[in-house]
Amino acid sequence: MLRRRYLIRDEKGRVVETPERMLQRVARAMAGAEEISGGSAEARIWEKRFLSALSQGLFLPNSPTLMNAGRPLGQLSACFVLPVEDSLEGIFETVKQAAIIHKTGGGTGFDFSGLRPAGDQVASTGGISSGPVSFMQVFDTATEAIKQGGVRRGANMGILHVSHPDIELFIRAKTELDLFSNFNLSVMVTDEFMQKVRADRDWDLINPRNGSRVRKLKARGLFELMVESAHGAGEPGLVFFDALNRGNPTPALGRFNATNPCGEQPLLPYESCNLASLVLPRFVKGKQINYPALEEAAGLVVRFLDNALEVNRFPLPQVKKATRLTRKVGLGVMGFADLLIALNIPYESSRAAQVAQKVMKAINSAAREMSRDLARQRGSFPAFAKSVFPAQGETRMRNATVTTLAPTGALSLLMGCSAGIEPLFALSHKRRMLDDQLVNEVNPAFKARLAELGLDTLQNQKALAQSGLAASIAGLPFKDREVFKSAHEITAQGHMAIQRAFQLYTDNAVSKTVNLPARAPVKEVWQVFEQAHAMGLKGITVFRHGSRGRQVLELASLP
Ligand code: ADP
Repeated sequence: MLRRRYLIRDEKGRVVETPERMLQRVARAMAGAEEISGGSAEARIWEKRFLSALSQGLFLPNSPTLMNAGRPLGQLSACFVLPVEDSLEGIFETVKQAAIIHKTGGGTGFDFSGLRPAGDQVASTGGISSGPVSFMQVFDTATEAIKQGGVRRGANMGILHVSHPDIELFIRAKTELDLFSNFNLSVMVTDEFMQKVRADRDWDLINPRNGSRVRKLKARGLFELMVESAHGAGEPGLVFFDALNRGNPTPALGRFNATNPCGEQPLLPYESCNLASLVLPRFVKGKQINYPALEEAAGLVVRFLDNALEVNRFPLPQVKKATRLTRKVGLGVMGFADLLIALNIPYESSRAAQVAQKVMKAINSAAREMSRDLARQRGSFPAFAKSVFPAQGETRMRNATVTTLAPTGALSLLMGCSAGIEPLFALSHKRRMLDDQLVNEVNPAFKARLAELGLDTLQNQKALAQSGLAASIAGLPFKDREVFKSAHEITAQGHMAIQRAFQLYTDNAVSKTVNLPARAPVKEVWQVFEQAHAMGLKGITVFRHGSRGRQVLELASLP
């Protein structure tokens, strides 16, 4: 995968870069920003430090940085949000901007709530509008056509506000109408809506063009539609408007109406964000987390990311302007499940949630500390005076946000660790590669543990390949069964407890999927959505096993 996606090729398509050279290229490009303030000697010192951390596998930046740093494209960010205006010119301008971003490996999020509903009038032509869902198909088709040179399919997040008149169509679009192969969908839900669901009240659908009420319906009926659709096919997700905006560091610049494709990064129109993730299992010493090392690495990576904002070749002038105004960066983690296994802690346990909080608190504080230091040398982000920080007693800050928890889909494969903060998907599973081949993979920590216990027999290997579950190994001690539980054996509450623990110390949002077993009833999704809101999460995504036709990861049999 490294070869296929990241390493430089010549005109004939032959790979001409080694992985070491790739890391050198990335370290050098990011250290280049140090020359501006410190000269070339300073740049060399930081290049060494960045390269050392990268070579030890302590962290990786998001994919576009690995692919494009130090190269002509030079576009380094993974996440973008683009505004969509309610005019034909505006819509197609955004399609074009999205195409430019996809070409460079970035993902885009859009709030389509400003578009007038289907059937509404169009004054200039005397015709009627086809509405957001119809225009989203234009974005979807454009994305399909670009395919990012065959290495990275474009990713989009489509968001519609819960009061938009086309909301029901939007909710059904993927699941019933089979539209969109390049969109994740989320409904933007407000506290007010959730209160109406709880109290079983009516809910107004409003035309965004003139603010008039188009229709009213039962809040519960609409909520049920989201619940059923998510139960049936994992979409839509919910994003919670009020929780997102309570965490908005610059409300004077605007409110959050959209996130990037996987939901972990709320952004204002035209903002972009560079992400990076620490590889948690690399910070285990004996059976303990090496906190000083973790904090030092967090600081270093924030410096790396702030440098990325200097050397980034922004794909659009508007993106450059908006991004440099707040200088958001997003440091997160991968390999959390591996970390817990190394510490012999079950994912579904209060200790795991404590570890999550402690780890993220340490990372967030070290990241902020570095951001303050950088501000002393380089100045605060330009919108600092208008931000929430002065009221919190801060005198300077280089970055409006410092932490984000990304899914690390590609990065965790590169590092051979568990993805983001997710539990193990299965202890043995088949992975569908880009060329459609299925490859069998056994979790190495589990294999080692079985060997230690004298249980790595042919019979057990077979049982494991069949079920993917630790529980299928006869004679496995209870504690090991708990520690090696996989995503579908963990309750929804267990998943959400970890999401919340991380969210408490994350400036931006958390990418997390709440897995449900195939037999989970619709009612459970309803409860999960309500609980997620009550817990103050910024968003929620559920996925019931086997509910979508083809999955990237496949278990041999359903639990
Ligand atoms: P990676 O592991 O490749 O760095 P992640 O899985 O952590 O990426 O996703 C982080 C963000 O990167 C996503 O939320 C999205 O904004 C962007 N992204 C992910 N996959 C794609 C893709 N195929 N095309 C465009 N953007 C993507």
